[in-house]
Amino acid sequence: MPVKYKSSPQSDVATLFHDSRLAFYTCDRNGYITYYNKAAAALWGREPVIGEELWCGSWKIYYPGGRVMPLDECPMALTLKQQPLPADNEIVIERPDSTFLNLLVYPQPLFDANGLLTGALNILVDITPKKTGEEKQAILSAIVESSDDAIISKSLKGIIMSWNKGAQKLFGYTEDEIIGKPITVLIPPELQEEETVIIGNIKAGNKIDHFRTTRITKWGKKVKISLTVSPVKDNMGRIIGASKIARDITEQLQKEEAIKLNSQRLELLNAIGKKVSASLDEDSILELITTDTANITGAAVGAFVYNMLDEHGQANQLTAVFGAPKEALENSGLFTPEFLNSTLIRVDDITKDSRYGKKAPQEVGGNGQPVITSYLAVPVETVSGEILGGLFFGHPEPGKFTAEHENIVSSIASQASVALNNCRLFTQVKNLSEKKDEFIALASHELKTPITSIKGYLQILQRSDLDKAGTLFLEKSLNQINKLNSLIGDLLDVSKVEAGKLTIQYESFDLKELVLDVIETFHYSSKTHKITFSSSADQIFVEADKQRIEQVLINLLSNAIKYSPNAELVVVELNASENEAKLSVKDKGIGLSEQHQKNIFTRFYRADGNENISGLGLGLYLSKEIILHHRGTIDVISEPGKGSTFYFSLPVKHQV
Ligand code: ADP
Repeated sequence: MPVKYKSSPQSDVATLFHDSRLAFYTCDRNGYITYYNKAAAALWGREPVIGEELWCGSWKIYYPGGRVMPLDECPMALTLKQQPLPADNEIVIERPDSTFLNLLVYPQPLFDANGLLTGALNILVDITPKKTGEEKQAILSAIVESSDDAIISKSLKGIIMSWNKGAQKLFGYTEDEIIGKPITVLIPPELQEEETVIIGNIKAGNKIDHFRTTRITKWGKKVKISLTVSPVKDNMGRIIGASKIARDITEQLQKEEAIKLNSQRLELLNAIGKKVSASLDEDSILELITTDTANITGAAVGAFVYNMLDEHGQANQLTAVFGAPKEALENSGLFTPEFLNSTLIRVDDITKDSRYGKKAPQEVGGNGQPVITSYLAVPVETVSGEILGGLFFGHPEPGKFTAEHENIVSSIASQASVALNNCRLFTQVKNLSEKKDEFIALASHELKTPITSIKGYLQILQRSDLDKAGTLFLEKSLNQINKLNSLIGDLLDVSKVEAGKLTIQYESFDLKELVLDVIETFHYSSKTHKITFSSSADQIFVEADKQRIEQVLINLLSNAIKYSPNAELVVVELNASENEAKLSVKDKGIGLSEQHQKNIFTRFYRADGNENISGLGLGLYLSKEIILHHRGTIDVISEPGKGSTFYFSLPVKHQV
């Protein structure tokens, strides 16, 4: 950096300070800068113009604390004006690059031989590093003081050297009480060895991170803490002690424990819930719930008691038992809903309960078996408040069941109640459905006999001489009787399917021939529609029940006609691949929505809007059953308003 000179009375001094590391500059008596050395220019971060700039080469000057210092109030200006300087000679300067420096300034007036003021010199000392260190120290102290964690330092001999407010809050000792005492006063007797290990690590320069342990307060209370210990070094880098940060983790541990317990409980309930909802059999649900719950609670014995009247009018059936014979639990008298009386009971020692005396003996397994002492009974209640029964658990030792067990068993009891309710509903629906099936079977059977007689009489009548009107009416009556017969036939078939009694009489026949026969009969009876037929094969042999397949064909063809009132054509195609014969019946009728397509093969299902077309919703159901019995497939492709194609496939019989 170039150094400016100007002939001045201070030039001798200037020469002296030229290369000094001490920042130095001079002004004449009017305040114009006459000289500055390299070090001063480096501090200012600029080179002021000699003889033009006043008092100070700095860009901007501030009082410590941040207030702007006007240039004519700077220490150099005050010195030249021979005014007193502020007590602390500290200023802050801002450099052109926006950095700040803390400077101590030492301005001195200069006089000539006659004692007249000729100017002044100023020495600038940069104290920024010291200042920053002090600031850091102050921030650190404030953090330590305001921290909720206990921050302690100790010597290598384990003597406490510093103690913050957090430490006082956690351990109870004030700073005065504890400084100078050994750290071991905070360590419970059984953990004293820990200190040796900690000091050993510190001496080796190792840090101890988040070590969970227990410490003891002034009042002898144990607290769970997480401890971080780091070595403290002196200027020379020698380890002279340790700093410790201790955090009270009692609450954190409680929360962790609660979360663990909760997730365990959820897992258990989830597992039981899954098992229970997979079954609709009451006995196995109760067995499962009783056993699983007894295992979870660690109960020696357990039972579920139904609060219901049996067919003999007897109440309280002991339905599921665990850990002891049924009679033993019955005889103990403790496993009865009367004992439970709709509220939950958890007793550490039931033998001290007033109700207990009335129920002797309480032995669980008869002779010599221990009596029940710990006792837990939880009602199983429906949403409407009806007590279905109770879950009972016992253990020979006292105090075996905790509040946590109580919570778990209550949650399981709620699941049990839902599961039992489902079972009941399922049983009711099943019974009703069975009754309905019985009725259908009986009714169709009963209807069949008179209809067969009527048909017989009508056929006899057919042979007699009738006029034109008589012949027409007779023909219509026979038609209706045939329809009735087929409806009753369908109902009887449904009963057979439900009872698992639909039998298939296998025979080998040419499916093509059968299809042609059926189409021919339709040509006679249908005055509205034409049925076309095409096939890629001359013959297609299948091994199937001919009558049943005919039934399927008739059903598909009559549906195609029935549900295409505005069309005239039904297209039948029969094709065979190597393994299967595939028949399709295509109409240009009303079609079916996707939702209906999914359901039409179930019993009694009819798509909406067909109310004016007669039917029971059984034909497709039976067709599907028949085809499935033949290990074939049946399905539909359809579009509302455009028509439907029903198709089925059957395995072909390979000719030998
Ligand atoms: P049903 O014809 O006696 O009602 P089905 O079991 O044969 O009983 O058919 C069930 C339902 O499927 C019918 O009610 C009808 O809604 C629909 N369905 C069957 N075939 C067709 C078809 N070709 N076109 C449109 N809808 C059909």
